[in-house]
Amino acid sequence: MQPKLIIHGGAGSSLKGKGGVEVVRRSLYTVVEEVYALLLAGASATDAVVRGCQMLEDDPRFNAGTGSVLQSDGQIRMSASLMDGAYQRLSGVINVSRVQHPIELAQALQDSHDRVLSDIGSAELLRELQVPIYNPLTEIRLQEWIQERDENFVKEAAGVVAETELVSETTARVGTIGVVALDERGRLAAGTSTGGKGFERIGRVSDSAMPAGNYATADAAISCTGIGEDIIDECLAARIVVRVTDGVPLAQAFEKSMVEARKRQRDLGAIGLDATGAIAWGKTSEVLLAAYHDGKQIGDTLEWSDGKLTGSL
Ligand code: ASP
Repeated sequence: MQPKLIIHGGAGSSLKGKGGVEVVRRSLYTVVEEVYALLLAGASATDAVVRGCQMLEDDPRFNAGTGSVLQSDGQIRMSASLMDGAYQRLSGVINVSRVQHPIELAQALQDSHDRVLSDIGSAELLRELQVPIYNPLTEIRLQEWIQERDENFVKEAAGVVAETELVSETTARVGTIGVVALDERGRLAAGTSTGGKGFERIGRVSDSAMPAGNYATADAAISCTGIGEDIIDECLAARIVVRVTDGVPLAQAFEKSMVEARKRQRDLGAIGLDATGAIAWGKTSEVLLAAYHDGKQIGDTLEWSDGKLTGSL
């Protein structure tokens, strides 16, 4: 089977500045190139997804791992999940701190009896696995938080979600990350990792470690981004996958789900693959930072401006 890959670096309301677009494109393409090569070399969909998520977590431009946004109390708490479509099994961590790659914890939990851990449990797991302590804070995120604190936290979410305005190379503000892969044996997997919305209350739970935000079966796999509450209310990832299982082609499953989400004024985006190798993406927000490899070439959605809610290959 020809492997397929699609990744995202968040969704938002604008993407200004050509320099910014090119910088994000380079970041995304670097990941697509490396991860697609792994798939061609026979890597499983889950291993490819984990590697892609690690790379995106390491890129400070994205709101996951290094470069995560701060919560209202000035702390970083990250969430990530991994779903192996072949086993239809989700694992994840919610509001974990001081770790470089939250996706690795999700991966470590794949074979555990207890597969989704919240803050205390995740910290315990970190100790158990002897993962070195890591500070994912970047100066830009700290300054963003200080500014918001001075304005008394009026924003609904950090710039990474609400305004993806790429001012310069160093202040590129983009979002949560996700990777969806189909391997040469026809297995699907999805992974999503986030620093959350930014400025949220302590204890707020993101969609990224729920089937609403990250879901995969043998039929289809989806990763979402945007306002977590909107994604949860739509149960977006599972909604699209179930439609595919019920016989709706992936592109139409995206279209139907995005039309419904827009009617309810949701602010979100999603990427996905199905078992036949179809690739699709959709958004109700203004921009979706996604890139893909269809087996022949790399493409992206960075300058997608035809007004449509979805795209597919
Ligand atoms: N969905 C994430 C959350 O609400 C944020 C994002 O996608 O940027 O936690």
